[in-house]
Amino acid sequence: MPVQRRARDRDGSIIQPMTLANMRENGVRSISATCETCQHEAVLNADRWPADTPVPDISLKLRCSACGGREIATRPNWLDRPRP
Ligand SMILES: [Zn+2]
Repeated sequence: MPVQRRARDRDGSIIQPMTLANMRENGVRSISATCETCQHEAVLNADRWPADTPVPDISLKLRCSACGGREIATRPNWLDRPRP
């Protein structure tokens, strides 16, 4: 099992990661994924995953389409956010 990455604050407490539900509330429907091995970047539609999926955990389900690497960093694709 891959170890799930969790952000921590200065005291070492785990910061709850953003979930797809939080992300969708912000008007973002897609994920930006970057391969840490070859820096290949891709934008993925996140509609296929359940709302309670933490955004960082999506990286565990992905494989780089360029190099096949599994070290993927995922974050909300903020460019998707509707402009006011
Ligand atoms: Zn790669």
